[in-house]
Amino acid sequence: MKQLIYADYNATTPSPRGHEDQVFEILQASFGSPSSIHHFGREAKRLMEDARENVAKLFGAERKSIVFTSGATESNNFCLKGVVFQHFKKGERPHIVITNSEHSSVHNVAKFLEGYGFCTVTYAPIHSKGFLEKDTLLSAINERTVLVAIIYVNNETGVVNPVEELARAAKGKKPNLHVHVDGVQALGKLDCTWIGRSVIDSVSVSAHKVGGLKGIGCLYKKPEVSLLPLLHGGGHERGWRSGTENMPGIVSFGLRAKAILERKEPLNHLRTLWNHLVERMRVLPGLEIHGDLSRCLPTTLNFTIHGVAGEELMLRFENAGIAVSSGSACLSGGSEPSRVLTAMGYSRDVAANSIRLSFGEGSRIEDAEAILAVVRGFVQKKG
Ligand code: PMP
Repeated sequence: MKQLIYADYNATTPSPRGHEDQVFEILQASFGSPSSIHHFGREAKRLMEDARENVAKLFGAERKSIVFTSGATESNNFCLKGVVFQHFKKGERPHIVITNSEHSSVHNVAKFLEGYGFCTVTYAPIHSKGFLEKDTLLSAINERTVLVAIIYVNNETGVVNPVEELARAAKGKKPNLHVHVDGVQALGKLDCTWIGRSVIDSVSVSAHKVGGLKGIGCLYKKPEVSLLPLLHGGGHERGWRSGTENMPGIVSFGLRAKAILERKEPLNHLRTLWNHLVERMRVLPGLEIHGDLSRCLPTTLNFTIHGVAGEELMLRFENAGIAVSSGSACLSGGSEPSRVLTAMGYSRDVAANSIRLSFGEGSRIEDAEAILAVVRGFVQKKG
């Protein structure tokens, strides 16, 4: 059987071998609901708090900073709506700033809030190389601004925003605004343990991007930050998020958090693979790599071959047994051009025909060779 290659780690990541069994075994021994006060409940609660401790350590924070959610989409919704609704309730007409290259789970929440008149929104334009500049952010903030949301590592291009510097600048202009960071594509790749000591108010992440189960994530938030909850009910998660806790997910997330904390230099082998690809791809005629490569994580490579339809490229990769993504994974199957590339100033044509390669722990240098064989075949065919 043909060897399949996975180059779509930004969409989701495989769990390490045995991970699901480990979660299953832990829960077999402890199946209670953490809210129950009997022995079984207390045991489940202990497991949950151990997991929370490990997840909190990822942010260099205390346990009480972590609210478990179903993933980053929920965390982003919780944060943006949680901040805006509070101001709206007081009769204010708040204003928020998001970059125009946010993931749809931030972008579409902002659109919703704007569309229903809960707030006004500025979509701060990014640089053509894919990052947000400080002056652009500062000029978007006004006296009504209550929140700014900045993606840490872009899921389509891998470009890293200097979130710490941007957050400090935003707070310097308006100290009481809320700085939210979508940290999904940074977790496990960049050290995030400085965040607990920073001025950043909240960060959203999903466990399945770091080898955990799907349907679990969290919102890190400073303990003093108050948000209006999205889900009301029995007051779980100290009232921030009602609903019996997703114990398989929480245990999984805790195990992965511990593994990330113990791992050293996660990007080293990817840097070699990524450099190998970049050096060979950038010299191919008609091939353009998007984003500032000096600010890109070596996990993502986004490109187009001028004159070649993205669908054709996708088909070639598919036939070669290589799983890649066109534009944002969440838009795969849709024909809309990538919003992020459009924001970088690329034409609809380029934005619609882009391909995203993304790499992770299981990626090998041989994967790069297989990818190059597909790409070169195309360039030679067209050339
Ligand atoms: N933000 C970013 C940057 C993402 O890449 C994703 C996943 N594609 C999300 C948010 C949403 O994560 P989830 O689908 O796990 O809720």
